[in-house]
Amino acid sequence: MHPSTTAVGGDRGVANLLTLSDGTMFLPVTAYRDLQKKLAREQRKLAHKVKFSANWKKQKAKITRLHQRIAEIRKNVLHQVRTTISKNHAVVVLEDLKVRNMTASAKGTVDKPGRNIRQKSGLNKSILDQGWGLLKRILDYKLQWAGGMLFWVNPAYTSQTCSVCGVVDAGNRPNQAVFRCLHCGHEAHADVNAAQNILARGLQSTAGHAGVACSPK
Ligand SMILES: [Zn+2]
Repeated sequence: MHPSTTAVGGDRGVANLLTLSDGTMFLPVTAYRDLQKKLAREQRKLAHKVKFSANWKKQKAKITRLHQRIAEIRKNVLHQVRTTISKNHAVVVLEDLKVRNMTASAKGTVDKPGRNIRQKSGLNKSILDQGWGLLKRILDYKLQWAGGMLFWVNPAYTSQTCSVCGVVDAGNRPNQAVFRCLHCGHEAHADVNAAQNILARGLQSTAGHAGVACSPK
């Protein structure tokens, strides 16, 4: 049995790595991106050096250290996220977003090249940076081990739906960060509102299986 009995929903974003329905926010891994730019620069420098010379070896070592730092940052952030979540909540609900499909679609196909490739690549890059696939696997494993459960729900319209009155309207999102319901006036951080919808969907989908949530197979 998981020591906690609470359930939480999580909205995966670009502005924030993950926002929970209780208002907890995990910031994006921007440090990782900065280091990647640096890595590309250092790799270009390496290309201009005489292979296996003393300077080349020095540069090579520098690049190895950068790779290690990037891996370390990613590991630490994911560890922080999963520890916080799996310690505090028995049930976690996330959107079933096919990250891989989203990243593949930017390029499109030969017949049908993707639109806004540059824009989408940037978005995709930040999704990938945050290691979603890895987080999913780690969280699932960690929660099962602790006696909790991880559920995925359809994310359609979770960002436009009011978590209080249920009205769906694109106008409920005046901008990226704010949710303001045109119907009931409910106002919240857009990601928190979405996370609350995700949680509600998860609870709805498990309502017919009371008790299942705390006893993994
Ligand atoms: Zn409303």
